[in-house]
Parts: sequence; C-alpha cells; structure tokens
Amino acid sequence: MSQPDRQEPRFSADDPLFGRDNSGAAPLDILKRVYGYSAFRGKQQQVVEHVVSGGDAVVLFPTGAGKSLCFQIPALCRDGVGIVVSPLIALMRDQVEAMKQLGIRAAALNSSLSREEASDVYRSISSGTLDLLYVTPERILTDGFQQMIARAKIALFAIDEAHCVSQWGHDFRPEYRDLGRLADLFPDVPRIALTATADPHTRDDIIERLALDNAKVFTTSFDRPNITYEIVERDQPRQQLLRFLDGHRGDSGIVYCLSRAKVEDTAEWLNGQGIRALAYHAGMDRSLRDANQDAFLKEEDLCLVATVAFGMGIDKPNVRYVAHLDLPGSVEAYYQETGRAGRDGLPSEVWMAYGMADVIQRRRMIDEGNAAEEIKRVERAKLNALLAICETAGCRRQAILAHFGEGHGGGCGNCDTCLKPVETWDGTEAAIKALAAVYRTGERFGTGHVIDVLIGTVNEKTERFGHVDMPVFGAGKEIPARTWQSVFRQLLASGFVSIDHTAFGAMKLEPEARAVFKRERQVFFRKDRSETGRRTKKAARIEKRASALSGEAQPLFEALRAERTKIAKALGVPPYVVFPDTTLIAFATEQPATRDALLGISGVGQSKLERYGDAFLKVIEDFTNR
Ligand code: ADP
Ligand code: ZN
Repeated sequence: MSQPDRQEPRFSADDPLFGRDNSGAAPLDILKRVYGYSAFRGKQQQVVEHVVSGGDAVVLFPTGAGKSLCFQIPALCRDGVGIVVSPLIALMRDQVEAMKQLGIRAAALNSSLSREEASDVYRSISSGTLDLLYVTPERILTDGFQQMIARAKIALFAIDEAHCVSQWGHDFRPEYRDLGRLADLFPDVPRIALTATADPHTRDDIIERLALDNAKVFTTSFDRPNITYEIVERDQPRQQLLRFLDGHRGDSGIVYCLSRAKVEDTAEWLNGQGIRALAYHAGMDRSLRDANQDAFLKEEDLCLVATVAFGMGIDKPNVRYVAHLDLPGSVEAYYQETGRAGRDGLPSEVWMAYGMADVIQRRRMIDEGNAAEEIKRVERAKLNALLAICETAGCRRQAILAHFGEGHGGGCGNCDTCLKPVETWDGTEAAIKALAAVYRTGERFGTGHVIDVLIGTVNEKTERFGHVDMPVFGAGKEIPARTWQSVFRQLLASGFVSIDHTAFGAMKLEPEARAVFKRERQVFFRKDRSETGRRTKKAARIEKRASALSGEAQPLFEALRAERTKIAKALGVPPYVVFPDTTLIAFATEQPATRDALLGISGVGQSKLERYGDAFLKVIEDFTNR
C-alpha cells in the first residue's frame, strides 16, 4: 500500500505543524484545540477523566460513539507515549495519518516498515517525542519491543477491538489472549480496552483475559438512531438490490454475501448495471484485496461487495449503506456488520434480503458441521434469534435492542416495520392445512412439492405418488403459491417444521406442530410486503436528504468535496482524514468567511486550520462571489 514517492510528513521538533507536547493540558482544551469539537459526547468525558487519573477502563460503546477519543485524549494529557494495540496492519497507516493531520505525533510499528523507519520510531519513543504508537498484538509482547519500551515513559495501553480476545465472536485472535500479561509487566500504567461488541460473554472474556478485574466498565445505549433498518422477503434478489442501490447513487456502501463466488458474481453484475463495485474476500490475491480495500477507503462512491472477511476496524465514517444478500451468522454479526454504516451520525440505510433458502442453508450448515452437540444448540438458538427479528411484525430496532438486553419502547419510526406497518393475518387454518399436507405426504417432500399438492397441481410427481387422490390435494387452492411459500418460510422460521437434509430437504413436523393441529394454538403470519410500499419511503428519504443540504448549499458542498479529494490524493490518504462529511456540510451551510469562523466549526482544530483552512476558505469565497 505504501508508495515510496509519496510525501511523508516527517517528525521534526521545529515544524510548527507537526505537533506539540500536550502533556498536562486539560482534556476539554485538547478536545477543542486539537480536534475542533466543542463538547464531549455521552460518557467520553467520564472515561477520559478516569484514565487520565490512572484508572483502568473497559469501554463498550457502539460504532460511531467516539471510542477513539477515549484513549487518544488521555494519551495526550498524560506524560509519555500511549501504546495502542490494533489488530489491523492494513489500517494502521490511515489511523496514523489521521492523527498526524490533527497535529498528533503518532507512528505505527509493524512488519511493513523498513529498518530505517522502525529505528526512526524507536528513536522518537526514547526521546519522548511521540504521543501515540500503534502496534500489533503479536509485536507488543516480543522481547525486542519490551526491552525498547522498558526505558520509555508510557502514558497508557489501549487495546482496540478488544472483542478479538473472545472465542465467542467471529474475530477471535489468539495473540490477544496474552495481552493480559501487560498487567503484570506494567502495573502502574493504565489500560483501556475498547469494543463495539456488547454481549455479556464477550465482555466477561475481555475482563478476565485482559486482567481488567479492577477496571471501571463504561457502557452506553447500543442504539444507532441514524440507521434505518429494512428486511425484505427475497424475491428477485438482484433486482431488489438494484432498487435499494438506486437510492444510493454516488454513495459508498458495502454489500455482504456469504460465499466468495457470489461476491465475485455480484460485483461483476453490479458493474454491468453501471454501479462501480469492487470485490473483497479472503480467497483473493492479497495485493488485489488490499488495493480494493484502499480504494473503498479513499473513494467516495464505491460499492464494496464482500464476505464477512471485510469490515473489522474499517473506520470510514461515511459508509451510507450496508446490504446483506444472505442472512448473517447471528444477531451479533448482523449488528456489527450493519453498524459499519453511518459512523458519522448522518442518515444511513441497512437492508437485507431474506428467504426460506437462508433458513434451510443455515440450519444445514449447523447440523452438518462437526461442532459438539452443545455448541450446535447454541448456534441454533442464535439463528432462531435472528430469524425472529426477520419475521417480526413489530419494530425492528426494538427487537434488535431487546436481543442485547436493552429496553426500547418500539415505534422508532426509522425501520421498515415502523415506516410501513406490517399486516398480519390469522393463519391458523392455513397452518393446519400446510402441516397436514406435510404429514399426509409422509414427511418426505420439500416445499415445492407440498405446495403443488396444496394448490392441486396435476403433474408427473403428484400423479406418480398418488397425491392427486388425497383429500389434501387442492385443499389450499384458494391461497396463491406465493403465499404458501411465505407460510412455509414462517413455519420453518418459528420451528413448527424442520428440514431433513439427509432426505433431500424433506420437511418434517416438529413437536410444536401438535398444538396447532389440536387448535390449541393460534398462528399469525406476516403479510409479505408488495413492492408498492418502497416508493413512498424512498421519496421520503430523498426529501430528508435534500433538507439536510438545501439547494443553494449542494453545489458548494460538491466544490468542497472536490477540494478535499484533491488534498487527499496529494497526501495519499482517505478524504475523511482531511475532513469528515459532517464538517464539509457545515462549511457549505454556514459558509464561514474567516479563519476564526472556520475554527468555530465542529471538526476544525488548530492543525487542520493551518493545513487546509485557506484552501477551503478560498473555495467558499469563490463560490459566494460567483
Ligand atoms: P468509534 O471508534 O466508537 O466507532 P470514532 O472514534 O471513530 O467512533 O468516532 C466516530 C466519529 O465521531 C468520528 O468522526 C469522530 O471524530 C467523531 N467524534 C467523536 N467524538 C466526538 C465529539 N465529542 N464531538 C464531535 N465529534 C466526535
Ligand atoms: Zn422501528
């Protein structure tokens, strides 16, 4: 990724742009002067104060809540260098560059550095002129590194993406498990672990594995109010995806698929449809994969089609949408993957197409996997929890947050079921017919055939098995085949029937079906949504955007964006490292004319004012004088 001809800002004590020593400064002062923000958010201040005064902390905030400041500011206030453990070498360079743009003296140590670069870094550590050092978990406990920092003053250790310590999540990194040793090696240095994964198992693992028993745990609501949730019944997935992406022309976003082959096919197809898309999966050539990731970070309107191998640590703030073409692994995975949208707090949409094939495939993957029965039970429960969210007729946000143990009154007004309430229908009679058809045909057939029997389709198969002569044949002809599909999907999702993979996908009755047969239990089904509802919603969304940036401000915003791209290209950094969209939007609407006015805008600190203030002021001036 690094290009030798790029201009790298080097450290120099005399360079006024290149950072100053902030030790001893007040946190709020640093927040304003360095970051250009006027106030701490949520519990940031509590965390910062706790760590500045030497306490250990576990920070469980959702994506976009602002975890980075929780360790960066204490590292600046305290004497010495803050050491940040981060699992992703590929992203360290951007993280460090973002710090440098703020005038923070930051560096990364990883295997991609040359010997000279590494010794430069070592020198700055021993001379005490470094604020933040990013390292990989593998490196931090090596003898070489330990010897080097033994003589240095250390402000704190920050363990980012701390959920990597837990085997519960899908990002488990064995090297994280040894990081607990830091507690013995540096008993006087505060440690702060941060993650956006909230489940109690992971939290307990973090505390135990990282020896953070005495740490103060900080949590906030996991709600992401700026994200719109939508889950649709899969019908023609590509066309549905295209319609969803239609509302996102010019935006950056991620499309998740389950398999590598599907990632490549989908990316190719999208390009054919005029949507710039790149693929990303673990089976790709490494340099191509890194190049695609880099392009996604640096460009403004790219769709990245990826497997779940992509995404951890991606801190691009203006990911405007996340789409799932396949069901994610669990509610936790869904929340983490969708959480990558809208880190900057601006409205963002997440969308999933879900169908019966997902349920069948997922159950099969669990059943046929070689995990112990006890683990399979957990996996099944996790899948069921996700299916319940897919099939709910209530508020999605409420259902999701309930899964994480957080109460929400529902009616969020920003999910598909709230925006267009789902109708339900009493499907008890239909369920009885459906279950009877499964039973009468001997629990030997998949949905396609059972539906043929229900609606009375005379064909080779229904004749050969003598099903045309059964009383259930045609017993459900008043209901269209499409609705029967929906009925079976919901019966499957809620566990009345199961699929026998050893018998070519035959449906079997589960014990729960008895109560339905005996009319002891009523069954309600969601009415699958026709496509008509989307239009109105889309229109509403477009209006929402337009009002965020009025007609007059839009062309200025575009001009500012072009300036940002130019600067970012010259520096070889992602545009958001220069300024996030939120700051450009404020430039476009408030149209500051002086350096002082510029400083008043959120996201403009001293360093960025010096670096780019004049360039952006000129764009604004040219625009207002035009
Ligand atoms: P997280 O790591 O929790 O996902 P980040 O640290 O990346 O979140 O912060 C998300 C965005 O919010 C960043 O663009 C960051 O600069 C911004 N931000 C963080 N704290 C504040 C604050 N107090 N005021 C304004 N913006 C903030
Ligand atoms: Zn809702």
